[in-house]
Amino acid sequence: MTQESIYGLTRDNLTEWLLSVGEKRFRADQIWKWLYDQRVDTFAEMNNLPQSLIDRLNEHFSFSPLEIKIVQKAEDKTTKFLFQLSDQTMIETVLMYHSYGTSVCVTTQIGCNIGCKFCASGLIPKQRDLSAGEIVAQIMFIQKYLDREEPGTKVSHIVVMGIGEPFDNYDNVMTFLRVVNDDKGLAIGARHITVSTSGLAPKIKEFAREGIQVNLAVSLHASNNEVRSSMMRINNKYPMDELFEAIYEYTSLTNRRVTFEHILIDGVNDKPEHAQELADLLKPMRKLAYVNLIPYNPVVENPYERSKPENIAKFFDILMQNKINCVVRKEHGTDIEAACGQLRSQYLRKQRRKRAEASEK
Ligand code: SAH
Ligand code: SF4
Repeated sequence: MTQESIYGLTRDNLTEWLLSVGEKRFRADQIWKWLYDQRVDTFAEMNNLPQSLIDRLNEHFSFSPLEIKIVQKAEDKTTKFLFQLSDQTMIETVLMYHSYGTSVCVTTQIGCNIGCKFCASGLIPKQRDLSAGEIVAQIMFIQKYLDREEPGTKVSHIVVMGIGEPFDNYDNVMTFLRVVNDDKGLAIGARHITVSTSGLAPKIKEFAREGIQVNLAVSLHASNNEVRSSMMRINNKYPMDELFEAIYEYTSLTNRRVTFEHILIDGVNDKPEHAQELADLLKPMRKLAYVNLIPYNPVVENPYERSKPENIAKFFDILMQNKINCVVRKEHGTDIEAACGQLRSQYLRKQRRKRAEASEK
């Protein structure tokens, strides 16, 4: 049986486990320091713990469940990491550099069942959820990579925007958030963390009640139900009125801003009338709405194309004229297929090709 990764425990979970095996409470802080401050790779290095406890930790927990397969660096330094998990499945994680720090985009599921038509991840049905430990381990791997390559550089921001729908793996994602946010550990500020959802309305309402200051992003991508449903079948389950009802509940409970992601696909959702419709939709919550316009990253397996630059500019102008806060997202690592899910699908395609070639021989 595969052991649970130690990275999947919050400090409270670790304390509970220690107490349950008759150890003292203060050991939790010691272990936590080794994990997230010293960032060791084995329990044996925790040299202020008695050997009996080290043995017990080894019996119960594993360390990182990730095996690195590929590291790919783009010209702008954006770096993609392809990992293999203990059951041989693959996930990818992206490190990006910004003027304000570094951010890591984490994967939360193997494949994704939401099946948005424009998305590389959505082409692969979900095989399973990632455990909290597997999500935390992505951050830890990259933090240790930075410790070696660029000592002193910290992962300062996290975006939960990799493969998977985070709210379809809700509990593990919440545990992950509590671990990375823990002020005695990595202490990545909640306001520096963004979780993106395709719009699971009931989970947005639940998230509103977590009492955690993590940012919420909603993949809206369309200004009406017809266009949204044509790209995202989740819109049939939670159409836009239901989605916005949940978003209003979230803003009224938290008074926090919501980011709306809007990819721009040529001829599909990028017309001036779409921009005006979006502005009208967001006007009632203008102070708390922020639109992220994302030039679409074409995926080999689907028919969509990126909007033309002049249409992106026009879309942006219309939102601005309507006083909707918005930005056109800067692209990272376009030379290495940076949209999440693309390195993995590229790798799997190559593997399939290799297998096909081998069987032809
Ligand atoms: N499942 C979540 C989070 C992961 S996707 C969600 O859908 O929100 C992160 C963001 O990337 C989403 O807004 C998604 O719609 C967008 N995205 C997916 N494929 C893309 C592509 N090929 N080009 C640009 N953005 C893409
Ligand atoms: Fe899943 Fe998000 Fe891709 Fe949709 S966009 S298929 S929800 S990962």
